Amino acid sequence: MAKKQFKAESKRLLEMMINSIYSQREVFLRELISNASDAIDKIYYKALTDDALSFDQDSYYIKVSADKENRTLTITDTGIGMTKEDLENNLGIIAKSGSLAFKNENELKDGHDIIGQFGVGFYAAFMVADVVTVTSKALGSDEAYKWESQGADGYTIVPQEKASVGTEIMLKIKENTEDESYDEFLEEYRLKAIIKKYSDFIRYPIKMDVTGQRPKEDSENELEDYQEEQTINSMVPIWRKNKNELTAEDYEKFYTEKHYGFDKPIKHIHISVDGTIRYNAILYIPEKMPYDYYSKEYEKGLELYSNGVLIMNKCADLLPDYFSFVKGMVDSEDLSLNISREMLQHDRQLKLIAKNINKKIKNELQSLLKNEREKYEEFYKSFGRQLKYGVYSDFGSNKDVLQDLLMFSSSKEKKLVTLDEYVSRMPEDQKYIYYASGESIERIEKLPQTEIVTEKGYEMLYFTEDIDEFAIKMIMTYKEKEFKSVSSGDLGIDVDENQNDTKAEQSENKELFDYMKNILSDKVKDVRVSKRLKTHPVCLSTDGEVTIEMEKILSAMPD
Ligand code: ADP
Ligand code: MG
Repeated sequence: MAKKQFKAESKRLLEMMINSIYSQREVFLRELISNASDAIDKIYYKALTDDALSFDQDSYYIKVSADKENRTLTITDTGIGMTKEDLENNLGIIAKSGSLAFKNENELKDGHDIIGQFGVGFYAAFMVADVVTVTSKALGSDEAYKWESQGADGYTIVPQEKASVGTEIMLKIKENTEDESYDEFLEEYRLKAIIKKYSDFIRYPIKMDVTGQRPKEDSENELEDYQEEQTINSMVPIWRKNKNELTAEDYEKFYTEKHYGFDKPIKHIHISVDGTIRYNAILYIPEKMPYDYYSKEYEKGLELYSNGVLIMNKCADLLPDYFSFVKGMVDSEDLSLNISREMLQHDRQLKLIAKNINKKIKNELQSLLKNEREKYEEFYKSFGRQLKYGVYSDFGSNKDVLQDLLMFSSSKEKKLVTLDEYVSRMPEDQKYIYYASGESIERIEKLPQTEIVTEKGYEMLYFTEDIDEFAIKMIMTYKEKEFKSVSSGDLGIDVDENQNDTKAEQSENKELFDYMKNILSDKVKDVRVSKRLKTHPVCLSTDGEVTIEMEKILSAMPD
């Protein structure tokens, strides 16, 4: 039986496709600029193998110009152009990508920059335009052609005069409707912003005629408008530059330009990985906490680029929660994008990158702690709590990554110490890592329970944040030393108690103790004689896992 071809209502199909692929209309410009960049890249690659062709960087550019009066937006490139057949095949057949074919034909694998692959991006133009006119002259051809379409009704191709090789795409921007305005796509500042957002790191200059104002020549106070051609994009992304060529200021400037924060970052991490998965990243450890950091509004994530084109503003999967303060970006050519190029097909590559980044951040924090203690403490004041939450969450599965990064106030030098510092100076007879919890250091120091530990000359960690004790419970032991609250029943300290003495005292005062127990019946389990007090008459202690401080927090929590 003869096979029949599917028929499709192509106009509807095209509309459905365009509107379901893209979440934002503005990406049409990203798509057209990416195509223009691909077209220039193709000349570049041809020139590599063809001696008759030379590639003079200065003659290749992309230009975006808006004409408000006629409601047209034109994107011109000096790229490889399209023959009549190319226009038929690449713009006349939906989902046919000339760029993908080019990559395959030329076996471009390593270091390629060609962006196109799905053969649908071009049609994004119809999200904002009623009519799209493409005039193109292919490299090595004497003829030029004009392709025109009003959406999927079809298209026409006719010969057209064009002096130079390359492509010009003219969009007739839609009229505003009651609900939708399209004027923004004719506004200089908007176009500049869209170019900056998505196409800042396209390798070729993206130019625009920009209006500026200057003082009139023979008048001091009057201003006049003038037009000037400007390159809008930065072109070479800082992350592709050699680390040795970059200064601390360069990284700070990038941080500010990208609006990662208003502070100056404490540290930057520049990563270039050329392994199973290739990627570049620039990460920052901020100094100050964003105002919404410990709130639900705060969104973690890194910018994700594919080949220099922005894919996602905040890719959350790249950062674990405990490093949610890290800012920055990742660029990889190995991501498998989905058709909208706003998401990924699968996340295997992303997971690899995330794992790798996680390790780098940890190492960087560790070296900061070791080599730049003051800076680390500054950082820790802002984000230490997040690290402690990290230890506590996921049932302590992150403790190995994080425990060496923790710091607590200590009774020794009244400053922050690490667990390693604490343990390494423990006297031999000290069995436990002691800690005391309270609202503030001043209050903790007044706790009667601390006296015996202080008397022994043992160091104590001061837990002043709610999360401290919960985090420690997840760590359980550090370098084989258990943690012990000073208010727990057995402190493991020989108090030189004469057992008989205590017992005698206990029975002599039995009546008093029973009386007290009776009054406090629903508040305490027992009332006992203690030898651990020095200057205080009485103290509270606990037997179980949950200390008094933890109980306070637990009972304050909403059910
Ligand atoms: P993709 O870029 O994913 O291949 P598009 O729909 O964006 O898909 O473009 C389809 C094809 O049209 C491209 O692969 C390319 O061959 C051709 N094309 C589009 N724009 C241009 C241009 N400015 N210059 C040369 N060829 C172009
Ligand atoms: Mg494309």
